[in-house]
Amino acid sequence: MKKWGFYLFLLLFLDLASFSIEPISVEKADGGPIDMISTCASSIKITKDNIYKGNLLLVNKDYPIPEKSVRSDIVDLRNLHEWGSGYGWLHADIRLSERVAQNFAQMVHAAEKEGVNHFMINSGYRDFKEQNKLYQEMGPDYALPPGYSEHNLGLSLDVGSSQMKMEKAPEGKWLRKNAWKYGFILRYPEDKTAITGIQYEPWHIRYVGLPHSAIMHEKNVTLEEYLTDLKEKRNITANVNGKKYAISYYPVSKTLTIKTPGHCHYEISGNNMDGVIVTTFP
Ligand SMILES: [Zn+2]
Repeated sequence: MKKWGFYLFLLLFLDLASFSIEPISVEKADGGPIDMISTCASSIKITKDNIYKGNLLLVNKDYPIPEKSVRSDIVDLRNLHEWGSGYGWLHADIRLSERVAQNFAQMVHAAEKEGVNHFMINSGYRDFKEQNKLYQEMGPDYALPPGYSEHNLGLSLDVGSSQMKMEKAPEGKWLRKNAWKYGFILRYPEDKTAITGIQYEPWHIRYVGLPHSAIMHEKNVTLEEYLTDLKEKRNITANVNGKKYAISYYPVSKTLTIKTPGHCHYEISGNNMDGVIVTTFP
């Protein structure tokens, strides 16, 4: 069933640090983003380790990831059952975080229903050894050293079109418009190369999860800009899909206890720099 009213209606209520995107269409069971932990905890303990784990880790030339940041749920994509048709594989061995792969499968499925069905999955997770091999073979102009590539996390993948170049393809257009609904961002946009330090890559998508992907899409900001903004504002709220999220940044230099009264769903992610982002909804 098409829910055009839901699809087309984006409202932005801006005040200093809150806004509303309402409602978005996500055709999955309600209950919020799948990474949210459902426990009615009144407080959360945060350690320095949390800085290096989660969906919002920044990975760039200044902030490489340690190996402990790699997702623990890496799977071979072909082993998942959610796949329909509408896509192909460049090679047989493509891996990704299982959670992220589920969202990706839902996304491809939704695109297929709209007649966009020539996705080509080119690359997913690469371990540090594979990244090093690539770096040695291709050199610093074409590859990044281990830990400096988002592909080393398990949250990113390169998706092309089997028909034409991604910047012109319906698949690329569809992703630019819709990927955020499934928790993904286009990590290296054309107009943000000065900020990301990476050339325009219309094929590289990165999972950050909702509500963050919705906010970043609406504000047209990169992960770098979003994390900087959170650090400055400390607290923002966002209404996405009828749910009010509170998103807070905490610097972490020692173990912290954060009070979360009345919040039964929360997600903690480090920023891979100096702190954590805690996202809650009641
Ligand atoms: Zn990539």
